[in-house]
Amino acid sequence: MIIDTHAHLNYADRYGDEAALMRDLKESGIDKVIDVGWDYDSSAYAAAQAERYDFLYFAAGFHPSNLGKYKDGDFDKTAALLASRKGVAVGEIGLDYHYENTDKPAQKRAFAAQMELAYTLKLPFIVHSRDAAADTLDILKQNRRFLAYGAVMHCFSGSEETAKEYLRLGLYISFAGPVTFRNARRVDEVAKIIPSDRILAETDSPYLAPEPFRGTLNTPKNVVKIYEKLALLRGETMETLSDQIYKNAHTLFKKLNETGK
Ligand SMILES: [Zn+2]
Repeated sequence: MIIDTHAHLNYADRYGDEAALMRDLKESGIDKVIDVGWDYDSSAYAAAQAERYDFLYFAAGFHPSNLGKYKDGDFDKTAALLASRKGVAVGEIGLDYHYENTDKPAQKRAFAAQMELAYTLKLPFIVHSRDAAADTLDILKQNRRFLAYGAVMHCFSGSEETAKEYLRLGLYISFAGPVTFRNARRVDEVAKIIPSDRILAETDSPYLAPEPFRGTLNTPKNVVKIYEKLALLRGETMETLSDQIYKNAHTLFKKLNETGK
């Protein structure tokens, strides 16, 4: 079974004919996809898509680089979206210090508040962390109680030591396209040491297409390339690894067990 645990199919204009894209994904043998929001509108759109397509599930939340659009009351509206049977997680949330003029205190507040929202809703959450490993770890440790329903480090690209810290906190580690890149030595080493019951895989479509499609529009179909590379690195068969990841995803994101339209 094949799942893409993190993609953004919720761009109305990025993939061309939406119905054709969804048909193609199903015909390509993609069993489930988690469609992830980055602000209220994208989360609401992902929720609507999950209603329309049986293999889609969604996460709702505010990405740290999209807090400019945040309005009072948006957390309540996000919670209302997640009441849907296909709303599997709060996300993506976290810290992104990549851009200049980043409002770090605002990002930290929104991250902690959304961890609490996940806890209140009894849901896991999806963490985005870029150029902010130390602060991400601090906030997770300070708010440990909100980790009761689990969390995942999405598109992990940090060091082995950082991965071990997240593992100690009980988090899952998810790998995306960069693990297939030729200069990916560091992330390759990390992929080898993640315990079988804590590893996940994702495309982060439309970004970060894996080799050999690097530089093109990414879609969940390409998640197979990430499974292949992870299986190679870990000395496992593709089938063993993909079944394990499918099981892990259903353990963390419990509402993935909801079926039907
Ligand atoms: Zn993402």
